[in-house]
Amino acid sequence: MPRMPLIAGNWKMHGLKDALGFFDELAASGAVSEGREILVCPPATLLAATVQAAHKHGFRIGGQDCHTESAGAHTGDISAEMLRDAGADYVIVGHSERRADHGEADDLVRAKAEAAGRAGLTPIICVGETVADREAGREEDVVGRQLAGSIPAGLAPTGYVIAYEPVWAIGTGRTASTGDIAAMHAFIRSSVPDGEQVRILYGGSVKPENAQEILALHDVDGALVGGASLQAESFAAIAKSA
Ligand code: PEP
Repeated sequence: MPRMPLIAGNWKMHGLKDALGFFDELAASGAVSEGREILVCPPATLLAATVQAAHKHGFRIGGQDCHTESAGAHTGDISAEMLRDAGADYVIVGHSERRADHGEADDLVRAKAEAAGRAGLTPIICVGETVADREAGREEDVVGRQLAGSIPAGLAPTGYVIAYEPVWAIGTGRTASTGDIAAMHAFIRSSVPDGEQVRILYGGSVKPENAQEILALHDVDGALVGGASLQAESFAAIAKSA
């Protein structure tokens, strides 16, 4: 089975109600196509409104994080069941900003991915090395450890997605070279069980100008896009490159 390309937008802590015109613009751009899946992960406050707009136009919606439990006394948190109930199909877990800002380690990321799977969501499990790791030549050790610690044993290879996001390339305008991306994606594919079936996205300053060469790489099955996903025009241009 060929792996369906996935272009995912992570809006992070951006977006008010007036952002909803994004979906009409994206639909009008012709980015929706049978050959690719397009996902937007808005802030939780916009989930209900974006689900309606996205389903009308054939896009998918995801959360940016979830709790490990389905319900409970966890003020401010959102469970995977709640995301599913709101109409989400995916949830990002282990994004480097959550690992850095909230001290999330691999075992917590794994528990979140498990919770997502239980709720019927597909987790997008993020991994990636820091600039210090890369300069020291230990990027494969770091990413290999994150993969081993963050991916639940019970998930089918088509039941989760990996996003390789070198931390130094996120929001910096610096993109990894195509050689480095190809090498790391091949390493990741060979490191996980039934890797040929697992979709592996690249993330880190993907924009319309570099999307085509990145998405053409053999082991790159799509992109996780931050900044350039906030404007329908740039996100559509990236999607059309897949
Ligand atoms: C991200 O937040 O996952 C990301 C890749 O951001 P950016 O595209 O802005 O680098």
